[in-house]
Amino acid sequence: MQQQTNPGSSIAQKYGIARSPLWSGVEKKVREDAKCMTCSNDQNLQVHHIVPFHLCHLVYRGDLELDDRNLLVLCEENVNDHHILVGHLGNFESYNQGGRAAIEGAFVGLSAQQIKADKTWQALMQGRPAPWNKMPHDQRLALRQFLDTNFAFIPTAKASAPFPFLDDGTVNEEAKATTYH
Ligand SMILES: [Zn+2]
Repeated sequence: MQQQTNPGSSIAQKYGIARSPLWSGVEKKVREDAKCMTCSNDQNLQVHHIVPFHLCHLVYRGDLELDDRNLLVLCEENVNDHHILVGHLGNFESYNQGGRAAIEGAFVGLSAQQIKADKTWQALMQGRPAPWNKMPHDQRLALRQFLDTNFAFIPTAKASAPFPFLDDGTVNEEAKATTYH
């Protein structure tokens, strides 16, 4: 099996989540003929999860690890590095809640240094979601609600509905590990 060393995978490991074996196929398909959604660069591209896949798994919506609706392409070219700055607002444990609409065509032509100096970016960064281990109970519940509202579960051969997420202090390991595929 291919070794995954990208930041998303390391963070997922920290929370006890492994990449789906189906990921490499999905990633390859999304990457075909792709360009960075921010700057149209076609070099050093990364397939980005709008809501990081570790967070999807932690609220039992692991299907969104593999779902096109939660995926887009950003560059990791080091002059402007749109993946971490625009997709994750500077922290791979967090993300840009504005999703596709906030990412497409944003900060075009700006270097990483200029993006970090931009007032709009700074406001987004200040308001970015907390990492999971610092995320309060109500925000965890709201995250699941957000996913259910914006990315309604698509039934698979294995599941007609996702596991409910209660955040009641127990962890459903089966629910945390599945992509429902
Ligand atoms: Zn870019």
